[in-house]
Amino acid sequence: MSKVKIATDWLAGCAGCHMSFLDIDDRIVKLMELVEFTSSPITDLKHPPKEGVTVGILEGAICNTHNVEVAKMMRERCQILIALGDCATFGNIPAMRNFCGTQEALKRAYIETESTVDGFIPDSEELGVPLDEVVAIDKVVKVDLFIPGCPPSADAIFHVLSELLAGHTPVVFPPQYFKYD
Ligand code: SF4
Repeated sequence: MSKVKIATDWLAGCAGCHMSFLDIDDRIVKLMELVEFTSSPITDLKHPPKEGVTVGILEGAICNTHNVEVAKMMRERCQILIALGDCATFGNIPAMRNFCGTQEALKRAYIETESTVDGFIPDSEELGVPLDEVVAIDKVVKVDLFIPGCPPSADAIFHVLSELLAGHTPVVFPPQYFKYD
């Protein structure tokens, strides 16, 4: 039986959701018998193959144009797209900058911090352009499943993947419990 292909990536987040994924510990050995990780931020290959994968997992919120491009590529190449964690699901901590505005947040972070001398706001094409508002992933692309939590527990992540591999639609929480507009 061919293995189910999974790709992961992260946007504006802290990598904690991916660390929680690794916390499934020895269950990952069992998982690896059934799945192949084609790409992730911590492997050599960073993007899903052009021919696509079955499951895509995205951590982090959308805060700049680079995040938008990555989210769209994942959507195009993944049959099932999962938003992993509160940043991906709600915006969470990255979205706190929405309270003061992007330029104020950048100024405070890069110029006004007490320890900064001759600070400047970085500006490079590689960084992407900051958006006026940080948003959850589903504001930019269709998301099929949400795994909330900061980070989600390893058990929740393993449950969702196990259910998908069994051909079931996993239920983590009733959607009305954790989604809002
Ligand atoms: S949901 Fe929490 S653990 Fe995951 S990327 Fe965001 S801040 Fe980090």
